[in-house]
Amino acid sequence: MNAAEPFLGELPVFANSFASLPAAFYTRLPPHPLPDPYVVGISHDVADLLGLPDGLLNSPQFAEIFAGNRLLPGSEPLAAVYSGHQFGVWAGQLGDGRAHLLGGLHNESGHWEIQLKGAGKTPYSRGADGRAVLRSSIREFLCSEAMAGLGVPTTRALCVIGAEQPVRREEIETAAVVARVAPGFVRFGSFEHWASRDRKLEVQQLADYVIDTFRPGCRIAANPYDALLRDVSVRTGELMAHWMAVGFMHGVMNTDNMSILGLTLDYGPFGFMEAFDSGHICNHSDTYGRYTYRNQPHVGQWNLYCLADAFLPLLNRPEIARAAIDETYGDAFEQTFARLMRAKLGLREAMPDDETFIGETFGFLQQHRPDFTTFFRLLSRLPGEAGRDNRAAADAPLRDLFIDRAACDAWLDGWRTRLAQTPWADEERQAAMLASNPKYILRNWLAEAAIRQAKAKDFSGVQRLLTCLRRPFDEEPEFDDLAALPPDWASGLEVSCSS
Ligand code: AMP
Ligand code: MG
Repeated sequence: MNAAEPFLGELPVFANSFASLPAAFYTRLPPHPLPDPYVVGISHDVADLLGLPDGLLNSPQFAEIFAGNRLLPGSEPLAAVYSGHQFGVWAGQLGDGRAHLLGGLHNESGHWEIQLKGAGKTPYSRGADGRAVLRSSIREFLCSEAMAGLGVPTTRALCVIGAEQPVRREEIETAAVVARVAPGFVRFGSFEHWASRDRKLEVQQLADYVIDTFRPGCRIAANPYDALLRDVSVRTGELMAHWMAVGFMHGVMNTDNMSILGLTLDYGPFGFMEAFDSGHICNHSDTYGRYTYRNQPHVGQWNLYCLADAFLPLLNRPEIARAAIDETYGDAFEQTFARLMRAKLGLREAMPDDETFIGETFGFLQQHRPDFTTFFRLLSRLPGEAGRDNRAAADAPLRDLFIDRAACDAWLDGWRTRLAQTPWADEERQAAMLASNPKYILRNWLAEAAIRQAKAKDFSGVQRLLTCLRRPFDEEPEFDDLAALPPDWASGLEVSCSS
């Protein structure tokens, strides 16, 4: 240990649990160095989860380590193989074409693995350059942490490291690496890979690894693999409900981007709903709108059927693979979605007609297209009762989102009638709603503004957005500008798969 780097002695020791699988599952290789790396942003929340010493965060070694130029103690870097269905079509072998899994650790906050995305070519790069650009890396970094702040299951991000190295996309950009952190990065496609090759042994080895490492509870079930499939199905249903309730659109819900742990994974051309449109396509490359907002719950189920097919060799009877999904997914989605929507609407307890009311609410939003986040945030502050005379004043902030004020009044009448069925003191209800309806989301224009600044070597915008988005429900006057609707310059922003 170098005396000038005393924090190295305080570093936790890492180990790569995925490396315990047979060699066919991955290729061991170190990340490719990135010359003169610099820190673009750090999530101190994630550094705390990992137990990284402060000395490391403030040292020049930090950028070296998380650019992949220098290894953490115990790292066993590897790139994993997987396959998948992309846009509904079997794509064959894919794999970590630009991701290196370094290793992980257990501590009191859980099991965490670190993966560098953008650290150079691997045997799975398929002719691409193994790099990621600053723009998409900042988007992944910020959105991972924003989703965590919103309470949505997600992979986390420790940092973005940038470098001058040019990377060719539609235009020449510069390279960056995101250090992603999650309990694990196994995908639906990791299973499909082996099933597509009729390799039952490897499907089973992978399932055993996932069960033993992450879901030991499945081991005591009559059929542990059926239990695992059901676990993934429930978590995926819950995840889709979270996405829908917060207005998140993933944009590339290919089976290789679906986490076996039910986490939001692989942030690319994602978007958050602004002016409500259930048919919104956030990914400019998604020509036919397979991954529109409203399709996400169906696609989640479709992807689970792909996973269930991959599990067939592990289940005695083929019909139980699909049953594992059919008997769990719909309920998990619907129950979680209803719970989250009741919280957004300030409904204290469930009532039999809630599904109808929630459906009507979405119909109303679709017709009048208010900003999704602003609508629920403003609704949170409205009184539960409004007399005829003072209602225009009381409801003004919300009514101002609508051209058709009468339609807004009519919906509010229905909302108040429903509120009255499960009475709740205004103050308490408003506090609960404000804790369920974020003020801040990662709007494309916010990410774009921070990216433009970062390209000019000013990283304060990235760190400021991160600070704001980690507490998206808090009222922070200093961040009021970050809750604003998109400015005119942002109207033409397009996000594609290019990353
Ligand atoms: P994505 O659309 O980002 O989920 O990526 C799909 C597949 O392409 C994955 O196997 C990635 O590892 C791979 N990939 C995407 N971009 C690159 C790149 N620049 N270099 C190497 N592989 C890549
Ligand atoms: Mg991917």
